[in-house]
Amino acid sequence: MKDNAWTGCTQQQIKEIGLFSQEYKSFLSQSKTERECIKYFSKLLEENGFLKLSDAIANKTPLKQGDKVYAVNMNKALVAFVIGKEVLQKGMNILCAHIDSPRLDLKSNPVYEEDGFCMFDTHYYGGIKHYHWVALPLALHGLVCKKDGSKIDICIGEKEDDPVFGVTDLLPHLTEKEKGFNKLLSKQEEIEGEVLNLIVGSKLKGGSAKAKILEVLQEKGIQEKDFYSAEIEVVPAGKARDFGLDESMIIGYGHDDRSCAYCCIRALIDSQNLAKTSAVMLVDKEETGSPGATGMKSKFFENMIAEVMNLMGEYRELDFKRAMNKSQVISCDVTSGFDPNGKQQYYKNTEAFLNGGVAFSKYTGSKGKSDSNDANPEFIARLRKILDENKIVYQFTEMGKVDQGGGGTISSILAEYGMEVIDAGLPVLSMHAPWEVISKLDLFENYRFYKTFVETTNF
Ligand code: MN
Ligand code: MN
Repeated sequence: MKDNAWTGCTQQQIKEIGLFSQEYKSFLSQSKTERECIKYFSKLLEENGFLKLSDAIANKTPLKQGDKVYAVNMNKALVAFVIGKEVLQKGMNILCAHIDSPRLDLKSNPVYEEDGFCMFDTHYYGGIKHYHWVALPLALHGLVCKKDGSKIDICIGEKEDDPVFGVTDLLPHLTEKEKGFNKLLSKQEEIEGEVLNLIVGSKLKGGSAKAKILEVLQEKGIQEKDFYSAEIEVVPAGKARDFGLDESMIIGYGHDDRSCAYCCIRALIDSQNLAKTSAVMLVDKEETGSPGATGMKSKFFENMIAEVMNLMGEYRELDFKRAMNKSQVISCDVTSGFDPNGKQQYYKNTEAFLNGGVAFSKYTGSKGKSDSNDANPEFIARLRKILDENKIVYQFTEMGKVDQGGGGTISSILAEYGMEVIDAGLPVLSMHAPWEVISKLDLFENYRFYKTFVETTNF
């Protein structure tokens, strides 16, 4: 076992960790989609003196040291800057994290009837184990866009008197021997993605359960064809809460990677006297390979950096390239924590342990480090210095055994600019399950590390 960092904590530190965790749980409970995260963070940034970059562009407001701006991309990605003392061509300190999480999405034409029930058809998003998503209460979050330009926000299943939804499963008596009789068995290989369908109603109208639900939707202003222009995510219903008896852990939906995203934003807000301009990038679509206009592969981020340089009076193509090339990045993403219930899948010496602090992955990828960013030792040595000087608890880790484990992050995309990049985040238990578990101490140490990183001048 690795050292458990709670052992060295003072009463004061335990209090600080508790307070930070309390605020995090509140954030996580109300931010279950990309859009909800952006809404939460935009408000938090504005309350802390960040102005809209779009306003600064429209008014040609010059940006100078100490100014704080942020820009939102299609309500699903965000970049926030604090302008430092030095010119941008010397590079930036960048934190990036993703705010999308595995889930079920409603299909474009989801409503159908089956044996007296009205159902919503889904297509899962990201890497899930299908059998995790049956027999638990689920909520609907998202929006419906109407042809007249209006939008209807959807959030059903979170208030105490709200209904919830679910994918039902067969009882054990029916599934012990009859493999293949019904695809709803309690094993991953037995549950096909296509049968992850929500039951949403069982009353009839004119003999039809679907007609009844369409009537209910109509009362909310939604026609069946409005689902063509809707984005509705099916997520676990309920709040993030303490896990265990000793106030050390939190269970919640979407720790991957909203725990890192939250620490990034709080670190930028709380940072002081920045010599280098610092940025936080929060992206969508990481769980599906970072494509699309709101994913890390989008040009949005470099476009916004160009806009900031322009308002600083520094934009020239070569200087922009230098700014990108000289920047250094922490790719803030979670990793798998060592699980006492699944020891055989791990190689103990290199796994991330809960309560072991910030988990660094020098490289990610799988099978011979394929597609991974492999961080430079020169960069890592500089990071070790600030980690030790600030007494931040950390560990260097891999995900699973060689040839068995592995996974990707957005680090390799940013490395394409020639930036120094390394992955660092929290260890997570039950990662990618509807309810994931993290340590409060790891959460706080990640926040402290991200803050120290953006405040550090002399790399
Ligand atoms: Mn992740
Ligand atoms: Mn993930």
